[in-house]
Amino acid sequence: MRITPRRDEVQAIVAILESDEYDSAEVMARALIKEVSELLNMRDWVALTHRFGGQRRLGINWGPFASDNEAGKYAAKIGINGKFSTVKLYSPGLLLANATAAKRPTKDFCTNPVCMHASAVHSAVGTGRGKCVLELCPCTKYSK
Ligand SMILES: [Zn+2]
Ligand SMILES: [Zn+2]
Repeated sequence: MRITPRRDEVQAIVAILESDEYDSAEVMARALIKEVSELLNMRDWVALTHRFGGQRRLGINWGPFASDNEAGKYAAKIGINGKFSTVKLYSPGLLLANATAAKRPTKDFCTNPVCMHASAVHSAVGTGRGKCVLELCPCTKYSK
């Protein structure tokens, strides 16, 4: 996975590295691995699909990749024949966060203190976003 660290992801890791809460490097390492896993679970990914074998449509899928471009380069490198394509893998973490109305689910959350839900659950208004569509949330306008 060729990823570009995002500002909010870097901040989450720096918070662990600068914390005094960890008794040993090993405990901190465990916390870092868990945090990185959760952060990456909030991203969308791409899987590379491969089909061969004619009628029976046999195939193998690989992933995740960070982009179609990365998956395509990988397909070119592995040197096997057949038909490749990609499919998007939407973030299971973000879906769950939205389904359970988690606060601060990812970097794009509404800063309205009564809301703090994902930007994606705010209705579209022109090029911006309007009210939060989650039931029981009083937020009337998405705030960055
Ligand atoms: Zn909300
Ligand atoms: Zn909101």
